[in-house]
Amino acid sequence: MESKLIQIVEDDADLALALGIRLRANGYSVVTSQDSITAVTTAKNSTPDLIILDLGLPGGDGFVFLSRLRSLMHLALIPVIVLTARGADSEVKALQAGARAFFQKPADHDALLAAVADLLAPATPAIG
Ligand code: CA
Repeated sequence: MESKLIQIVEDDADLALALGIRLRANGYSVVTSQDSITAVTTAKNSTPDLIILDLGLPGGDGFVFLSRLRSLMHLALIPVIVLTARGADSEVKALQAGARAFFQKPADHDALLAAVADLLAPATPAIG
């Protein structure tokens, strides 16, 4: 099976690298963007299966990226996990903006990987 592609949108290069290594070790392909403008271009060009999104970003914060993404028809349904140093009010705002999960830094990578796997799992057909 072809590996799922995950886009990391994160301006902290060390964190993006560490997370990318963990994801690749778990069989995912990874593409990284460091600001929200190139992140939109990369999403358009590579159509990732899932996006892990920082909120504090150059070029417009994560919410700006989310609204750009949501305005692009073929990208609007990509699941997004927000990973940020920001606190609880950002969680509410992120989920309202369409993020599927929220992790505060420093996030437990095992929990984050579990959320990734969960969001990428094929929908289970309803029984009965
Ligand atoms: Ca940041």
